[in-house]
Amino acid sequence: MNELVIISGKGGTGKTSIVASFAALAGGQAVLADCDVDAADLHLLLWPDVIERHDFYSGKEPSIDRARCTGCGKCMEVCRFGAIVHADDKHRDEVRHLSSACRNCSFCLRSCPQRTNSDIQAMMEASAASATPVYAVDPLACEGCGVCAAFCPAEAIDLQPRLCGEWMVSQTRHGLMVHAKLGIAAENSGKLVSTVRHQARQQAEQADIDRVIIDGSPGTGCPVIASITGASRALIVTEPTLSGCHDLQRVAELTRHFDVPASVCVNKANLNPGISDEIASAARELGLGFAGTIRYDAAVTQAQLHNRAVVETASAGSAEDIRTLWNTLIEQR
Ligand code: SF4
Ligand code: SF4
Repeated sequence: MNELVIISGKGGTGKTSIVASFAALAGGQAVLADCDVDAADLHLLLWPDVIERHDFYSGKEPSIDRARCTGCGKCMEVCRFGAIVHADDKHRDEVRHLSSACRNCSFCLRSCPQRTNSDIQAMMEASAASATPVYAVDPLACEGCGVCAAFCPAEAIDLQPRLCGEWMVSQTRHGLMVHAKLGIAAENSGKLVSTVRHQARQQAEQADIDRVIIDGSPGTGCPVIASITGASRALIVTEPTLSGCHDLQRVAELTRHFDVPASVCVNKANLNPGISDEIASAARELGLGFAGTIRYDAAVTQAQLHNRAVVETASAGSAEDIRTLWNTLIEQR
């Protein structure tokens, strides 16, 4: 299985537009994987029709059983993240009818923009003075460490798998695509990236396709490590700026560390030909392949406005550069 992963030192380098063009150039002979799960946007160019949806669970979250809880407050005392809150029974009764999903954490009260901090403080103090103390978990603050469950004298806290998002298999006009949505404040996007990659490989195998094109995460953190590990080749997309030069070195270090062959391309190269040439030299000095340049071209923005990849709407300019880049990468494998 050939896995080509497109990455960059930072967001906004044009990585996703290039992936969408590669998808078009692959002519249905590649499965796409959007592994930029923290800011997924490949769907904006490919308009996928979702075929399958799957929940993504990662880590644990505590759930307090009100029937067993004695209201001793130990959980609040031991939680280092301030994630156990003293909720207000009255408030819960008032808002419960709004949503059956309400977990009585009182986060809405504490973060509501209509209230001032002093109002919130007064509310919390009043709630703490309640004759019937009610403790709840703030899901946005909870780190899932399990300390509250370990210390609860009434064994009233159960740890359950935490729902962190979902991943999907979709049909696009250029073939199958696996993508994901990370929940608000949900963590472990590295694990979700690994899930998306694994599923994309499986889809490719089932469809007898031997290529996966991955829109990787930007930067050098856990999600990008999960994007590149074991890939056949990484294409590092950079821009002709000083920060582009610096980012290239950091990303190159990462690909070298994980033993992934890497090539470099400079997007919008004609905006600064001098630095573009410097990046090409630096890439060779770093032992990377230099795959080519893409010129700045208003056709890219026009294509984006029409939810298309530039190679679908233009034949010259940047579209021609991307075709050349694709052919170079096919040769490099
Ligand atoms: S430690 Fe257990 S019993 Fe005490 S308030 Fe927390 S959940 Fe309830
Ligand atoms: S699992 Fe950890 S972070 Fe979450 S509420 Fe319990 S002690 Fe706090």
